[in-house]
Amino acid sequence: MAHTCRPVHSATATGSICARSSSRSKGSGVAAVASCPKFVGLRRLDSKSGSEGFAAVLGGVSSSSSSSSSSTRGIVSMGGSGKFFVGGNWKCNGNSESIKKLVDDLNSAKLEDDVDVVVAPPFVYIPQVVSTLTKRIDVAGQNSWTGKGGAFTGEISADMLADVGSKWVILGHSERRHILGESSDTIGKKSAYAATKDLGIIACVGEKLEERESGRTLDVVSDQLQAFADSLPDWSNVVIAYEPVWAIGTGKVATPEQAQEVHAAIRKWLSEKVSPEVASKTRIIYGGSVNGPNSSELAKREDIDGFLVGGASLKGPEFATIINSVTSKKKVAA
Ligand code: PEP
Repeated sequence: MAHTCRPVHSATATGSICARSSSRSKGSGVAAVASCPKFVGLRRLDSKSGSEGFAAVLGGVSSSSSSSSSSTRGIVSMGGSGKFFVGGNWKCNGNSESIKKLVDDLNSAKLEDDVDVVVAPPFVYIPQVVSTLTKRIDVAGQNSWTGKGGAFTGEISADMLADVGSKWVILGHSERRHILGESSDTIGKKSAYAATKDLGIIACVGEKLEERESGRTLDVVSDQLQAFADSLPDWSNVVIAYEPVWAIGTGKVATPEQAQEVHAAIRKWLSEKVSPEVASKTRIIYGGSVNGPNSSELAKREDIDGFLVGGASLKGPEFATIINSVTSKKKVAA
């Protein structure tokens, strides 16, 4: 994945050489930014971003007040490689035949160029997917062990994932936290080890409904982020997935305002606890009942840098629609 359009940073603002200093003329569109042919997203430039927004998150799932409406907007480059990021988590679904069809559908889909796309098949199908899926799309594991391997029945090591061609691993998914009982401490150890194998990490965080309703969203997400921060050597190959548990697999998607509020708060947390540079570069993607129809409105929000998709990633054409929702972000940025 090419790294272009690196952001620049100062004590007061986070900007981008390519977007801010180019001679981009009105109506010329993103493609006309001479030194930055890649996607240009939106980033809030005021120093208050996210702080007030989080208070509104604490009230419950029906909260819809937006921190973005009152903030100063400025066009700067997307975090990380400057690309939207969409991951498909296939969970424990499929068989050889259905996965062949899904791969065929993805291979024939027309995908926007400026999106990093990753799919996470069940472990046993990773070799099939790696050998048949277009190289345009990377493959991820849905989990990995805390170390190299050995007498750990049922586990898969990061070494094994890398060996069969995976470039990424999803860690901290709520189904592993809350169904399999994984602690943040274990997830941190898994992350630390996966990083030594050069796997990109999709680091999942998110609150349960009762945590949101009791005003603990920020505390929960911050604690989960801290466990990643304590374990990761750096954030250069990490994408944060904000996935409110109440929205996963429930059909109850967070409103764009709710998602934006938490994403802005996560970026603020990164800025304060890690560094402004990491806050600017790290992509923060949303997960929780994202589908074809709702993806374009979510994608327009300035701190939503892509999606982690469960159910809808099992349908090739719909997953392609979600990937291509980057076009709605580009329209907002234009
Ligand atoms: C997920 O599993 O990460 C997820 C977001 O699932 P769904 O899209 O089905 O809610």
